[in-house]
Amino acid sequence: IISPAGVGRRVLLAAPRGYCAGVDRAVIAVEKALDHYGAPVYVRKQIVHNLHVVETLAERGAIFVDETDQVPEGARVVFSAHGVSPAVHQVAAERNLQTIDATCPLVTKVHKEAVRFAREDYDILLVGHEGHEEVEGTAGEAPDHIQLVQSPDDVEGVTVRDPEKIVWLSQTTLSVDETMETVRRLREKFPKLQDPPSDDICYATQNRQVAVKKIAPEAELVIVVGSSNSSNSVRLVEVALEHGAKAAYRVDYAREIDETWFHGVATVGVTSGASVPENLVRQVLELLAEYGFGEVEEIVTAEEDLMFSLPRELRKDLKAAG
Ligand code: SF4
Repeated sequence: IISPAGVGRRVLLAAPRGYCAGVDRAVIAVEKALDHYGAPVYVRKQIVHNLHVVETLAERGAIFVDETDQVPEGARVVFSAHGVSPAVHQVAAERNLQTIDATCPLVTKVHKEAVRFAREDYDILLVGHEGHEEVEGTAGEAPDHIQLVQSPDDVEGVTVRDPEKIVWLSQTTLSVDETMETVRRLREKFPKLQDPPSDDICYATQNRQVAVKKIAPEAELVIVVGSSNSSNSVRLVEVALEHGAKAAYRVDYAREIDETWFHGVATVGVTSGASVPENLVRQVLELLAEYGFGEVEEIVTAEEDLMFSLPRELRKDLKAAG
C-alpha cells in the first residue's frame, strides 16, 4: 500500500488535543506575572507538566522550585495548575510570600469536595496516582479522611470505618475506563459507595481520550505529544493501545520520532496532552510530511470553548495598574 512517494500515507489528527483551559490560564498567569512584576518570578513545581513550556518560561525569568521553602522570604511565587495542600499555603504565609494561585478551578472543585465530605466525616477513597502533585494537594485537604486507591487491583486492600459512609473522588487526569473499573470493584465491595457530586475527571481529559479512541482503530501508529510526567498524556498512549493502535509512542519533541516506527505504517494518528502547546504538534506534522505523511485529516469529536479568568491576585494587580 505504500509507495515511495508516500501515496496512501495519511495522518489522522485528533481534536480536541493540546491546551486545556486550566493550562492556558496557568501559563498566561506566569507570563503576565513576568511582564507585570518583572523577573524573577518563582514557580512552585512545574507550572504545567510540559518540558517545553517550563524551559520557555525559565528563559524568560521564571525560577522553578520544588518546595515553597526554597523561595526567598517575601518573594512572589506562583502555585502550579495541579494545586497545593493547605500546608503549602501555610508555609507561604509564614515566609510572607506573595502568592499567585494558578490551581486549575477544576482541581479546586475536587479540593472543595474533599473538604466537604471530610467535614461530614466520610471516608474518602481518592482514585489517583501516588506521588502526583495533584493527589498530594487534594489528599492534603483532609489527610485523616482520604485514602488513595491507585488501580482496580488496589480495591482488595481497601478498608473503611463505616461502609455506609464512603465516597470516591478522583484525580482529574485519569483514564476514564480504568477509573470506572476501579469504581465498579469498589462498589462491589461497598454497595453504599457514593459518587462525587459531579465528574472529577475533567472535560479536557475526557475529550482527549474520546478523540484518541476514535482515531486509534484506524492507525497503525499513534504519536502522543506530551511529557513523561504528564498524567493525561501518558493515559492517551494507554488509551490508544487499548483501542486498536498497533503501536503508540509519547514524545516531547518531533526530534524524538524514530524512522523505524513507520515501517509498514500507512496511517499515523497524532494527538497531544492537555499541557502541550500546538507548535510542538505542528513540528511533528512537518516531520511526518517529510516522511510522506503529508495528507492530514482532522477528526473532531468535540468543540471546546471553556476559558477561566486569571488568578484573583494577579487580576487585582493588573487592574490596579490600569
Ligand atoms: Fe484543569 Fe483538566 Fe486542564 Fe488539569 S487537565 S488543568 S483539571 S482543565
